[in-house]
Amino acid sequence: MSKAKVNQGINLDEYKDVWIIAEQRDGKVLNIALELLGEGRKLADKLNVNLTAVLLGHNMDEAAEELIKYGADNVLKVDHELLKVYTTDGYTKVIVDLVKERKPEIVLIGATTIGRDLGPRMASRIGTGLTADCTRLEIDETDGKLLQTRPAFGGNLMATIVCPKNRPQMSTVRPGVMKKAKYNPDRNGNIENIVPNIKDEDIVAKVLEVIKSEKKEAGLIDASIVVSGGRGLGDAEGFKLIEEFAKKLGGVVGSSRAAVDNGWIDSSHQVGQTGTTVRPKLYIACGISGAIQHQAGMSESDCIIAINKNPDAPIFNIAHYSIVGDLYEIIPAIMDAIDDADS
Ligand code: FAD
Repeated sequence: MSKAKVNQGINLDEYKDVWIIAEQRDGKVLNIALELLGEGRKLADKLNVNLTAVLLGHNMDEAAEELIKYGADNVLKVDHELLKVYTTDGYTKVIVDLVKERKPEIVLIGATTIGRDLGPRMASRIGTGLTADCTRLEIDETDGKLLQTRPAFGGNLMATIVCPKNRPQMSTVRPGVMKKAKYNPDRNGNIENIVPNIKDEDIVAKVLEVIKSEKKEAGLIDASIVVSGGRGLGDAEGFKLIEEFAKKLGGVVGSSRAAVDNGWIDSSHQVGQTGTTVRPKLYIACGISGAIQHQAGMSESDCIIAINKNPDAPIFNIAHYSIVGDLYEIIPAIMDAIDDADS
């Protein structure tokens, strides 16, 4: 594939390879890193270049090996006491130094709390663009540029953004959207130990203590069954039925934003554009109309069942099984049928 040669003093041809920034916690690779490896592998193969995972932290030998087994050709491992916990200053400095020296063509970052802090800082230091919250990434067949697609205008449009003149092309990617890379225990690759040029004074904002949240997370991202309730429940009490239903199926509880805005359930349960993106084996939408912003977070589910009393509800356009009726009659009937089948 041919690329434009020189723009604003940058020789685009100097930039090569796809990088992902691999987040870890206490030495354990996070799922988002595996999702980025899956997507990064696809882009690297298309461009016929290497896929590199950049891993920062302290004491994380196993994590580097794991990244190779999940599809990285190279791991740039930066192990340093000052990188043990994430700091904006420390991580930005080390990664920007590496980007400037090695010149990757594409850098993918998770749209996590850390990634949303790190990405803009890096892009501004390097002087390149950043497309936040991408839900689809492709390579343009004509010029090899990265096509970065994300919801725009309140989710009513999907915008595809390119970074024509600067490098690297940087995107943050929403957790749960891309498929995780497959594990191959026989894969080999290079792990390069990088000695960072970092001093205590480089980190202006210090982390004094890390206090883990006691908030019970909904566990939506990895759930294989999600049962979600919406405004059609009528009140907060309705979630008791949804919880019971989810428990019977071995699933977790999701919700629409309307239910969260009404104060019926915690926002950690919200599925959609401004909530969590899920792709379970089974998604059951109960009393949810199927607004585009809700669909943005669940339309990739393997099987969607919708229960809604309005036969024209948009959720039925994407449901594999549509049940028209009152959820307060239908859900107990399904639970009874499950009990009968079990007994
Ligand atoms: P409604 O649209 O009011 O639908 C309720 C449904 O319940 C109706 O279809 C009705 O027929 C049905 N119903 C009523 N009673 C019963 C019954 N007894 N039995 C069966 N069916 C019944 N929304 C999200 O969900 N997630 C997001 O992340 C999100 N992000 C947004 C971001 C932006 C920028 C904006 C502008 C909006 C966002 N929204 C999001 C809101 C979204 O546009 C919708 O307003 C919201 O999804 C509607 O929630 P709902 O389907 O529960 O409610």
